[in-house]
Amino acid sequence: MLHIIKKTLINFFFFSPLFLISDTKDISIVIHGGAGWFTSMTEEEIEGIEEALNIAADSGYELMLEGGTSLDAVERAIIILEDNPLFNAGRGSVYTSELRQEMDASIMDGSNLNAGAVASITNVKNPIKLARYIMEKTEHVMFSSKGAEKIAIEAGLETVSPSYFYSEEKLQRAKNKIKTNSKKGTVGVVALDAYGNIAAGTSTGGMTNKMPGRIGDSPIIGAGTWAENGVCGVSGTGHGEYFIRLNVAKEICVLMKYEKLDVKKAAQIVIDRLKSMGADGGVIALDENGTPAMIFNTPAMARAYKDSPDYTFVQIYKDN
Ligand code: ASP
Repeated sequence: MLHIIKKTLINFFFFSPLFLISDTKDISIVIHGGAGWFTSMTEEEIEGIEEALNIAADSGYELMLEGGTSLDAVERAIIILEDNPLFNAGRGSVYTSELRQEMDASIMDGSNLNAGAVASITNVKNPIKLARYIMEKTEHVMFSSKGAEKIAIEAGLETVSPSYFYSEEKLQRAKNKIKTNSKKGTVGVVALDAYGNIAAGTSTGGMTNKMPGRIGDSPIIGAGTWAENGVCGVSGTGHGEYFIRLNVAKEICVLMKYEKLDVKKAAQIVIDRLKSMGADGGVIALDENGTPAMIFNTPAMARAYKDSPDYTFVQIYKDN
């Protein structure tokens, strides 16, 4: 009911200067750019990551401030990060053991539990756009590889050649069979709009030197991504095999929904459990009021949060 009233207010004030002060308190967006070590990075790279997170958070937030939905905000923020080679998603995706890219992505609409996902796609510029297209325009949730790429063509989405992803440094990491997560991260966004809708999305190139065909948690609804109005939204990053086995994103929301835990406590419990299994990773989450959790068991997780027009929190390493 509250959301219907809010929606009416938003519609009423949309073209009015009053709009900007009418209902902005619940709008919030939280973003991650991967969990890991973020060591041996140049100052320039660190600054580039921080700047991109800032831009993505501002852009998604502003979209919602102007009356846009959380789904649009999630897609817009992820596209910004997919286009930036500093992240392991879209353009910056890491190489498989056969020295090419295979990308995974998913998006979920908390208002109706609709979801779309793609796995092992090689030539779509923005995998998150394809995930959304699948959610909205097909009867299915998840497509992989050639089938997904065929839909991208039908949808008129931009495709690219392998040179678009070229990175000498990442190529060498794959050639040297470095099996760890790339130091450059998966990206994820969770947003709450003024209508009370929560959306979440995640996009990744997966893990460096992964076997061709390997699919991580990022495109798996419940593992890497979950959104449910009135409860929470979550996007994860880390050792995908463990995120799948623990169903991390859904598990956090289940703890909140049935055990009535707050978002930080719920996320901490699940991230601690990952650690006890030997897995590295982190999550970002929002509860129904836009309260964020940014929890990780690695030395760092690139992250940003915004819930007011004049400040954006951006941090990579742990608090002092
Ligand atoms: N979770 C991703 C995967 O396993 C990788 C990452 O987040 O770093 O594919």
